[in-house]
Amino acid sequence: MTDRIEGKYDAIILQERTFNEADVMVTALTADIGHQTFIARGLKKEKSRLRGLIAPFSECRLQLVAGKGLPVLTGADLIDAHDAIRNNYRYSVAALYICDLFHQMTVENEPNAGRYELLRDGLALLPTVRAWQWILYMEWALLKDAGFAADLDRCSVCGERLPGYREAPVAGADGEFIHKDCQEDGAGASLPVAAFAYLQYLDRADLRHLGHILLTEPARRQVYDYLGQRYQYILDFPLASRQSVRHLFASPSLDK
Ligand SMILES: [Zn+2]
Repeated sequence: MTDRIEGKYDAIILQERTFNEADVMVTALTADIGHQTFIARGLKKEKSRLRGLIAPFSECRLQLVAGKGLPVLTGADLIDAHDAIRNNYRYSVAALYICDLFHQMTVENEPNAGRYELLRDGLALLPTVRAWQWILYMEWALLKDAGFAADLDRCSVCGERLPGYREAPVAGADGEFIHKDCQEDGAGASLPVAAFAYLQYLDRADLRHLGHILLTEPARRQVYDYLGQRYQYILDFPLASRQSVRHLFASPSLDK
């Protein structure tokens, strides 16, 4: 735990909200002090030199000092504005949702270098793949990092190997995978082979091929729905921003 917020921190801006007429309340993810909410004074004024720099999914080096309540931003240097994301509607919507998810899945004042690197590297990856591929990849990687990803190799009931590519196993109500024969009274649904194989692919995370592996629209949505159920167990409330990315899973598949 960090008692006092004072210093320079590499950060990715997650959210900003109007605080009063001139000031903005900003939440950013850092490697050193978890996510952090601070006040950016005068950010809404025309001549603010930080305007345009402090925006969702921008990567900056922030200078913060302790305030009476929340820390206060005193300066910032831009590392990467991620213009390739900002200038593309689908990418922007996807990045805003994933930033929201990282906000929920990180803790204030708690250092988490791995979680920070995952988001930083993910943002660099996004303009090279399709928005839906990126969302599924980021959701799985974050589940795995948080220790909530299902075991894709072994049945959660009997512990024996799952069938793999030829026949998809059943996802139990908790999102763990089991053999059809190990299932009790129809709890859970079978994930189609293509959707299960895609999860196995995401789990290996060989990112060189992420952009090349396509799924039919129904299979994409099945993976999206499966991951959504998994997050329902973890998050206290459903994220509205997750609903706002649903349309990114629609065809045409070539549309980024
Ligand atoms: Zn089994």
